[in-house]
Amino acid sequence: MESQPKRPKCGSPVYSRRHPVCGRCGEKLPESLMFSAEARKKVEGVIEQDRKRAEWERKFPGTSPSDSGTTGL
Ligand SMILES: [Zn+2]
Repeated sequence: MESQPKRPKCGSPVYSRRHPVCGRCGEKLPESLMFSAEARKKVEGVIEQDRKRAEWERKFPGTSPSDSGTTGL
């Protein structure tokens, strides 16, 4: 059974974790409520990829490990 996360300030259920600001009270959501564990992993993966690419570019300036390396962020 999955418990519905609630906003700490106004107590209304969190319908969408994509919107960082509550539509009811305007309070910003804590990060822990914004992403599920799965989404968090995905984000961490993107950050890791970014770091690896930065490392690569430091070693081999002007080149890219892959041509389709855009993250869209
Ligand atoms: Zn609220």
